[in-house]
Amino acid sequence: MAQTVFCRLRCPRCFTSFPAEIALSTGAKGRLSSDLCYRGEGSFVYPYLVVVCPGCGFTSYHQEFDYLAELPRYSPYHPVGRALKNFLQERRHLYPGSEKYRLAAEDAKRRGSSHLDIAHLHLKGSWCAREEGNLEAERYHQEEALHHFRLALKEVVEARDVAVIRYLEGELCRRLGRFEEAEKAFAAIAPTDLPYWLRAAFERMRELATRHDASPQELPRT
Ligand SMILES: [Zn+2]
Repeated sequence: MAQTVFCRLRCPRCFTSFPAEIALSTGAKGRLSSDLCYRGEGSFVYPYLVVVCPGCGFTSYHQEFDYLAELPRYSPYHPVGRALKNFLQERRHLYPGSEKYRLAAEDAKRRGSSHLDIAHLHLKGSWCAREEGNLEAERYHQEEALHHFRLALKEVVEARDVAVIRYLEGELCRRLGRFEEAEKAFAAIAPTDLPYWLRAAFERMRELATRHDASPQELPRT
């Protein structure tokens, strides 16, 4: 089961050390949605893959921070446990997942990260926004992901990677109600270039695009 851990991290930019709640994996036995959001059993982990430094605001995947130590599991009656709980609750309130990924993508753009990396940050941001019920943020992240996936097509050469990016381009267009663009992106895919597990989903999403259906979908287990 996907679990979060409480730990102390250190920012690589300003060297502030601070407590954080992070997820080390996305779990198992889960379901995949049509925009490739994987939901393992247990918590929805994507907000816990990215960390915002309380010292300088640097935001990135937790692996970019120095991992100092795991924190003990305090009893809820322990004063340190209560202070820690309050601090983490306040951070979650200030920085929901969709906002963390927006900040992480902004930082990645300033650092000159690849379009593919930026696109994936926005894609994960759209999954968090959907979980939060924030449609405006979901559409913002979907638009940004689409823009950067399209730019990534100029950088990526491996046929399978190109096919998966085109699938996501088509699926994001379908979800955004841009059906003609979705059909065009899907038409550019050679199904045999797709990984085996994605082929049935591709046919299904392509059909939904022709029917002008923008609803989110879960993929059947293969
Ligand atoms: Zn910092």
